[in-house]
Amino acid sequence: MVENLNLFTSTQEVIKDGLHKLGFGEEMYELLKEPMRMMTVRIPVRMDDGSVKVFTGFRAQHNDSVGPTKGGVRFHPDVDEEEVKAMSMWMTIKCGIVNLPYGGGKGGIVCDPRTMSMNEIERLSRGYVRAISQIVGPTKDIPAPDVFTNSQIMAWMMDEYSHLRENDSPGFITGKPIVLGGSQGREKATAQGVTICIEEAARKRGLKIKDARIVIQGFGNAGSFLSKFLYDAGAKIVGISDAYGALHDPDGLDIDYLLDRRDSFGTVTTLFENTISNKELFELDCDIIVPAAVANQITAENAPNIKASIVVEAANGPTTEEATRILTDKGILLVPDVLASAGGVTVSYFEWVQNNQGYYWTEDEVNEKLQEKLVEAFENVYQTAETRKINMRLAAYMVGLRNTAEASRFRGWV
Ligand code: GLU
Repeated sequence: MVENLNLFTSTQEVIKDGLHKLGFGEEMYELLKEPMRMMTVRIPVRMDDGSVKVFTGFRAQHNDSVGPTKGGVRFHPDVDEEEVKAMSMWMTIKCGIVNLPYGGGKGGIVCDPRTMSMNEIERLSRGYVRAISQIVGPTKDIPAPDVFTNSQIMAWMMDEYSHLRENDSPGFITGKPIVLGGSQGREKATAQGVTICIEEAARKRGLKIKDARIVIQGFGNAGSFLSKFLYDAGAKIVGISDAYGALHDPDGLDIDYLLDRRDSFGTVTTLFENTISNKELFELDCDIIVPAAVANQITAENAPNIKASIVVEAANGPTTEEATRILTDKGILLVPDVLASAGGVTVSYFEWVQNNQGYYWTEDEVNEKLQEKLVEAFENVYQTAETRKINMRLAAYMVGLRNTAEASRFRGWV
């Protein structure tokens, strides 16, 4: 059998299964198998050399029965329509798992910010907001950072939106700089959330974080903060990687040293000669693996060789469905992306709440609330998996879809 590497159709399969197990029928699946709205835009940008380049952008809104849609905007050369659609569906599930009053949304622009100047990125960001302004807003659809977008880009987007509406609109977007209404703790939130899930998973398996041997694929926002948290907690980070290769040390890598040398896109391995491949990284002797880079990294091909007892997905879609089955059969505890990476959107929600009330919390308050939400979500998913004897991914989809399906039914849509 050829493995399904298509994120959109494999997501549809799990949604179908999850809704079925929750007792919802074919009509509910028809409603939730695609985003309710998908906008494709062309954005002309004046480049620094005077030429004009036209970029393609997307915004997908999966379902707004629970509340406004919510999700990040990705700037990446590999962005495509199906990926954005799948990611908007994952956002619905993430928001449902942590019980936020949102549906899922997602955006993306096909571009390579690594080759663009700051001015070009600013013009592109503002152009994107002008192009999608009709369908977004603080009570409609709230964007946020994602791969290769950051708080500066959120600031430009917020400024553009505020100009269009002639109103200061901090609640239009989250992940902003603190002075513009950003929340304490938002930048590290995704990594905090992953750390909480790792701690909970380790507890279930009787493993101590101190001295655990951990492999992290990816050294971007999530991967770098995460390796620092775990390193400071006494774990041995025995392998890390970036887009160009991986580093391995069975005695544990010096994470402070690597963080000091990584560039703003998370590249660090190019500075070393003794690198290993991403393939070898997954087969290292270790206790916990955290894929924190891109999709389809653990497949039917390499899943049988994984030695870790816990896999926590910090990236979106790193493990195929076939690989999920292989890992589950091997008794590996797989914490799925929709749960493990929900810390970002959770603190985004806190940011939006603070913007709406105009009163701001301390970092300790934010972290305490995040901890509470994620521990509860983990337990909910874990117990669902145990009671139903299903894997954690399917359990997470069941927990995550319930709010949206019920809200759609109460509204009389299905
Ligand atoms: N892009 C992040 C995610 O995929 C954050 C979304 C948000 O904060 O709204 O979860």
